Amino acid sequence: MKKSGIAWFGSELRIFWLSLLFVLVTVIIGFLNLPLFWAAVNALLLLSLMAIVMANALQVGGANAASRAERYQLESIVKNLKDGVIAYDQSFKILVFNKAAEEICGVKSDEVLGQAFTLKIKEQMRSHYRILLTILFPALAPVVIRRTEPGVYPQIADFSFAEPPLELRVYTHQIIDEDGQLAGFIKVIRDRTRELTLLRSKSEFLTIASHQLRTPLTGVSWAWENLKTEPLTETQTQLVQTGMDATKQLIRIVEDMLDVAKIEEGRFGYEFRELNLVELIEEIVGEASLLARKQQINVYLERPKYTEYRIRGDAAKLGTALGNLIDNGIKYNVPGGKVVVQISETPNQPYVQVSVKDTGAGIPEEDAKKLFTKFFRGENVKKFQVNGSGLGLYIVKNIVRRHGGKIWAESTPGRGSTFHFTLPTDPNLIPPKETVYEEE
Ligand code: ADP
Repeated sequence: MKKSGIAWFGSELRIFWLSLLFVLVTVIIGFLNLPLFWAAVNALLLLSLMAIVMANALQVGGANAASRAERYQLESIVKNLKDGVIAYDQSFKILVFNKAAEEICGVKSDEVLGQAFTLKIKEQMRSHYRILLTILFPALAPVVIRRTEPGVYPQIADFSFAEPPLELRVYTHQIIDEDGQLAGFIKVIRDRTRELTLLRSKSEFLTIASHQLRTPLTGVSWAWENLKTEPLTETQTQLVQTGMDATKQLIRIVEDMLDVAKIEEGRFGYEFRELNLVELIEEIVGEASLLARKQQINVYLERPKYTEYRIRGDAAKLGTALGNLIDNGIKYNVPGGKVVVQISETPNQPYVQVSVKDTGAGIPEEDAKKLFTKFFRGENVKKFQVNGSGLGLYIVKNIVRRHGGKIWAESTPGRGSTFHFTLPTDPNLIPPKETVYEEE
């Protein structure tokens, strides 16, 4: 551990020692050449001056020592952080490269500190600098999934490497100097390889368990269907109906679990094609409105401005997403309520927005953050709607994010909710690879 007190022979006290030497010589000369009274006055004045210089030097020394200690503490925190930290200036000269960054990039800090990585990038990409260069210049990455809009800081991006297998999440922050000018960037790198491997093996377990459950459940469902065709008393018919509803609900939960497991293993299996979003939505709304009529809920699509909104997407998965939102709009509505679907443009942005508005229970403010997390079910709806797995919105969010869009909700509790999601009209905004969007 470095010393953090005042250095008595350090730079702050150098002037003091030099002046002291000069003063002592002057005092001695004074005593040798001046009358005693004036020599004493001279000595007193010079020594008082020295006392002032000393006090000043001690003050500066103390402040410097405190700032040195602070800097040392900060350096040692950064050095020992579990996440990799790389800081560089605008000419890509590396200023900070901590231990974790060394391990992740497979490069020693001595090799890179002070080096500017702008020349010979192509040749260096074939060397052991490959991972470091990919992190510095994301455009070089074979697979990068950007999780934030361009130009918004901190930038968040996920990188996957096959050899060695690495899953990294990189947060890029700007370094702004005291004049408000951009001085460089700092990248914080989180190695998620182990985390994602664990998530995948947990999902594999879920997949197997859900598969095993599905077969006997289909058998139970088939048995109920057959029983319904038998001559039954009114009580028996009611019991069979209860059994059928519960089995359907169970099958739905198992299917949701299977979908979640596939999403978390990164193999939900999207098939992207060009499609007209209006046609797709009309179809889904048409099916939902037929079923909703039984529950006295009016589901309809508000006539969009254009008859065509062309996007690239997976029609089946988008159908599942929209179907889930409309189902919720029906499930959490009041008798005689409505669910309105709208399609609109986002001004000056290459996205189309879909909104599903209902007149139901609404979402309490404290639940808003948890809505899209796995297994969340609001207390306000559990009282009147027992059916639900809490997985629907998590699946919807993953489908929307996989298409390069965003999802959010607005609500007035007791009056209704509106779920909005966007989809890019520019196919370049679609992430290149399937990944799980578990936490946002
Ligand atoms: P589920 O509907 O199976 O419970 P979801 O993931 O679809 O699961 O929804 C999670 C929770 O979000 C619901 O339990 C409910 O509390 C709330 N929620 C979703 N949609 C609505 C809605 N349209 N109106 C009110 N609450 C909603």
